[in-house]
Amino acid sequence: AAKAAGRSCHQFFEERMSEKIQLRRSLELDMRRAISRDELEVHYQPKVDAKTGAFTGAEALVRWNHHERGQLSPALFVPLAEELGLINAIGAWVLARACTDASSWPAHMSVAVNLSPVQIMDRRLVRTLRQILKETGFPPQRLELEITETALLGNDVQALATLTEIRALGVKISLDDFGTGYSSLSYLHRFPIDRIKIDRSFVARTPSDAGSASIIQAIARLGASLGIKVTAEGIETESQRDFSSAEGCNELQGYLISRPVPHHQLEALFAKARSEAA
Ligand code: C2E
Ligand code: MG
Ligand code: MG
Ligand code: MG
Repeated sequence: AAKAAGRSCHQFFEERMSEKIQLRRSLELDMRRAISRDELEVHYQPKVDAKTGAFTGAEALVRWNHHERGQLSPALFVPLAEELGLINAIGAWVLARACTDASSWPAHMSVAVNLSPVQIMDRRLVRTLRQILKETGFPPQRLELEITETALLGNDVQALATLTEIRALGVKISLDDFGTGYSSLSYLHRFPIDRIKIDRSFVARTPSDAGSASIIQAIARLGASLGIKVTAEGIETESQRDFSSAEGCNELQGYLISRPVPHHQLEALFAKARSEAA
């Protein structure tokens, strides 16, 4: 019986493997055509000022509306796009879309766009960025690029040069998923970082878990003393919101405020907030 069970388990494993390989192959072909088929879309998750609750801008999050499979998560296809060498094209498309969309937002609002480590390594990044800013006319001061610590790992010299050039354009740099990578503290000191985004895995366990609460406290204080803005991401409950804001985080983002939404819904949220404030 043990032998039979072992065999079926093995068989199951092989089937799962080939399913995965097949999914990748078919996605690879489709991904090469996703942009020209107009299947990519950018959703936006608003961010608010922790003190006033007013909208400060939004983060752009890419979606792929696959003609057969429906909407696919970036967690699934971004790693594949990186492997296939398609992330530079997709990333440039997202950047252009975000700068175009955000041009219609109130003038004090910023847009944050995620950059893959592969894009940071690409020597054409700064040229692409400059061209997009020129074509869309979007003010660079209102653009934030989110990078992860992984992008800096083992890639110091080129990453530093690229980030310095980006900063010189007036664009801001945020360190995303902060606290989950390595050597975070030395990065804050060595790289031109304007903002830290505390990873939602810490936020999720506050305020009840003492360890996570201390981490948020420490990051908020570190940010304040280094002159780096701090955003708490993944705020899902009122007690998480109240905790992060009381500890001095500057900005909040999460399902409690809003899920990521299509651009027309974001504009409606902004318009409603403006009419309520008036
Ligand atoms: P991220 O940059 O850390 O983005 C935040 C993710 O957390 C988003 O997932 C968002 O929907 C989710 N989130 C926000 N608030 C909450 C919350 O309160 N609770 C929970 N459980 N989740 C929350 P999404 O949109 O699936 O994106 C996943 C990741 O994919 C992003 O993580 C980012 O690393 C990557 N990504 C998304 N768009 C792009 C892109 O245009 N380019 C690149 N290179 N990566 C992207
Ligand atoms: Mg992000
Ligand atoms: Mg994040
Ligand atoms: Mg993340």
